[in-house]
Amino acid sequence: MGLLEGKTALIFGVANERSIAWGIAQALHAQGARLGLSYAGEALEKRVRPLAESLGCDFVEPCDVTGDEQIAALAEKAAQTFGQIDILVHSIAFARREELSGPFYQTSREGFRLAMDVSVYSFVALGRALAPHMRPGGSMLCLTYYGSQKVVPGYNVMGVAKAALEAATRYLAHDFGPLGLRVNAISAGPIRTLAASGVGGFKTLYNQFASLAPLRQNVTIEDVGGAAVFLCSDLSARITGEVLYVDSGYNILGALAG
Ligand code: NAP
Repeated sequence: MGLLEGKTALIFGVANERSIAWGIAQALHAQGARLGLSYAGEALEKRVRPLAESLGCDFVEPCDVTGDEQIAALAEKAAQTFGQIDILVHSIAFARREELSGPFYQTSREGFRLAMDVSVYSFVALGRALAPHMRPGGSMLCLTYYGSQKVVPGYNVMGVAKAALEAATRYLAHDFGPLGLRVNAISAGPIRTLAASGVGGFKTLYNQFASLAPLRQNVTIEDVGGAAVFLCSDLSARITGEVLYVDSGYNILGALAG
């Protein structure tokens, strides 16, 4: 019997088969979870629907997380379809390409606002909208990156957004704990996805990673999926407000030498 048998998961952020959210969707499905997927805009439907169908998932709904009405409509529809929900996965981030290279201090006011809105506030808004429909014992999960803790040139405003997302994870864990809901983050090592391709210098970072990380291997969406199963299952029943690194050990290094 799967670790997530009888549980329902709502997953935000599948853009294509390289998406971390897709690795998580496959892993949760393999452990018996029933899935609902949400994608950003109409343009993505053609790519996301066939992926969803390959896992027997027919709840495939658009939701641009910058809109409160869209979030409310999505939550309503999910509640109607599934009744109660056990797992919420937030695998969403956005910053303008021009904010992801050059010096951080050049970040524009609007670029800063947009990155924080899409990449951080959306987790708060989704948590608020879905918590009333979640079963005690449920789990919320978001995706972060080490650029929140240390400077990664080019990551810029997204590093600041991820620091805020990790802090939001702790505050949400505090708020939702009394409801029996857990909130955690996975900090993944670099993975080649659509979002990553917008980060200046990503290719170099990615290529050097495996020669520097203690485990000498790059991270895959399957690796993240495995950790997500743990954090969404009852195996992690007393873990909340944490950031779990899935990065081949990179974050323990104090000096970089291959
Ligand atoms: P991805 O496949 O491009 O996924 C990012 C998702 O965010 C896309 O589905 C994107 O949809 C969605 N999104 C952007 N703006 C949105 C909005 N307004 N409303 C709803 N959805 C929106 O890239 P990914 O690497 O898997 O990213 C998933 C998460 O993992 C992000 O939080 C990212 O920061 C994090 N992460 C990534 C890495 C890495 O190296 N790849 C490492 C650590 C953490 P559109 O494509 O339509 O915009």
